Amino acid sequence: MSSKKDILRLRDLLGGELVSDDPDTMQLYGKDWLKDYTPAPAAILFPKTKQQVAEVVRYCHQEKLALVPSGGRTGLSGGATATNGELVLSLSKMNKIIQISTLERTATCEAGVITQNLIDSVAKHNLFFPIDFASKGSSHVGGNIATNAGGIRVVRWGLLRDWVRGLSVVTPPGDIINLNGSLVKNQTGYDLRSLFIGSEGTLGVIVEATLKLATLPKDALRLLCGLESLEKVLELFYAAQESFVMLNAFEYFSRAALDLVIQHNKLADPLQKRSQHYALIEIEGSNAEALTDMFMSLLEKGIIEDVVISQSNEQADNLLAYREMISETLSSNYTIHKNDISVPIASLSKFIADLTAALKSEYPGYHVIIFGHIGDGNLHVNLIKPKDISEEVFYARCKEADNSIFSIVQKYRGSISAEHGVGLLKRDYLHYSRTPEEIAMMKRIKLAIDPHQIMNPGKIFL
Ligand SMILES: Cc1cc2nc3c(=O)[nH]c(=O)nc-3n(C[C@H](O)[C@H](O)[C@H](O)COP(=O)(O)OP(=O)(O)OC[C@H]3O[C@@H](n4cnc5c(N)ncnc54)[C@H](O)[C@@H]3O)c2cc1C
Repeated sequence: MSSKKDILRLRDLLGGELVSDDPDTMQLYGKDWLKDYTPAPAAILFPKTKQQVAEVVRYCHQEKLALVPSGGRTGLSGGATATNGELVLSLSKMNKIIQISTLERTATCEAGVITQNLIDSVAKHNLFFPIDFASKGSSHVGGNIATNAGGIRVVRWGLLRDWVRGLSVVTPPGDIINLNGSLVKNQTGYDLRSLFIGSEGTLGVIVEATLKLATLPKDALRLLCGLESLEKVLELFYAAQESFVMLNAFEYFSRAALDLVIQHNKLADPLQKRSQHYALIEIEGSNAEALTDMFMSLLEKGIIEDVVISQSNEQADNLLAYREMISETLSSNYTIHKNDISVPIASLSKFIADLTAALKSEYPGYHVIIFGHIGDGNLHVNLIKPKDISEEVFYARCKEADNSIFSIVQKYRGSISAEHGVGLLKRDYLHYSRTPEEIAMMKRIKLAIDPHQIMNPGKIFL
């Protein structure tokens, strides 16, 4: 726990204006998007350079002070939360795009660059950073790397891990280490860069990254299909993969999720026929005529119940909005408990049947909303608090429900966190997805890099 003396010393190191203990700033920067935890940081630090980050880490290492790296605070696992008098190190003032190389097809930037800003900047060079999700207007590139972010493009372009060429990280005792630069090939021992991707701030602070870029997709069309069952959704996924090399996205939401989006955002039903399941698809390299033919034949075969194909960019955006507004609609209007899990794609419909049956019998009053990146086997399972119970009771019951959910995930050899990370939220359930040997090895790596355990302590594991 840091003292007044520590805050004064950090003010000397960084300059007074880059250290804040103002209560509103502490509330804001002491937590991420998750509402389950109460922020209680000691102070918020806003370094402007990697040298300043190194000075802070050096000081915290010497004094054994806990440090929470903080990006855009859109995380959904409590990873960027300071609940125990930690110092929060925000990267928000380190937001420069340093270089875009059209020859190497890379962008080098500071960790605090907002994801959307990077996407927009590289698009001017006909290049594409394929990380795309509803929070990209606030999340940081550093936070995306620290969580190995996914999103709606993974089905074609993979996870963020696939797009990181090089990293600059600051590790205890305050060293700035460059990992791989912009090299494509470099087989000289362990790939240390990979260790930091998805490490959730527990090994060091990512201060810069060189990211690989793709060619900007052109003329992509979006479709929204209504389907009667999950089996049909998977049949459609198979058909779409068979027919289209460039399947940019394949997203899923249930009728219950759509009903809430329509109700709270005063939108019209997107399709004429009411279905129980929906798939939002994006396809590049085809035209509306060919797509219409193919989807008409899927209608005739009874695989889909209804379909709309975007006729303009505006309509394409509107279709995507039905999927993208689900998280925001749930968080703004309800007390919810979120889960982000993955199972092998082939097991999805059996898994969902088992899951909904278990939740229905154990938690009869709970409204369950399911949506997600079904093309990656990744589902977001949300429980809504029933009106007649308190938040306290709700969160306590959700902890029990998590044990039921994760037992089913384990039965299907899935993961209790697909892309949001472990953070604080999933820490006590890690054993459902990782063996004791794996957890022990992770702890040994942590101790080797961070012997005083100052980096985001208590996150991922104790
Ligand atoms: C509406 C909504 C939709 C979302 N959809 C998706 C989705 O589809 N796919 C997906 O993957 N995620 C999704 N997320 C979750 C979230 O946006 C991602 O996890 C994102 O990558 C977090 O980035 P951030 O900058 O906000 O990180 P933060 O929340 O600030 O931090 C996340 C973790 O990374 C660590 N960290 C942050 N910056 C650094 C750094 N520079 N160095 C070291 N550690 C660091 C933190 O300590 C913390 O553990 C969604 C969130 C919201 C609110």
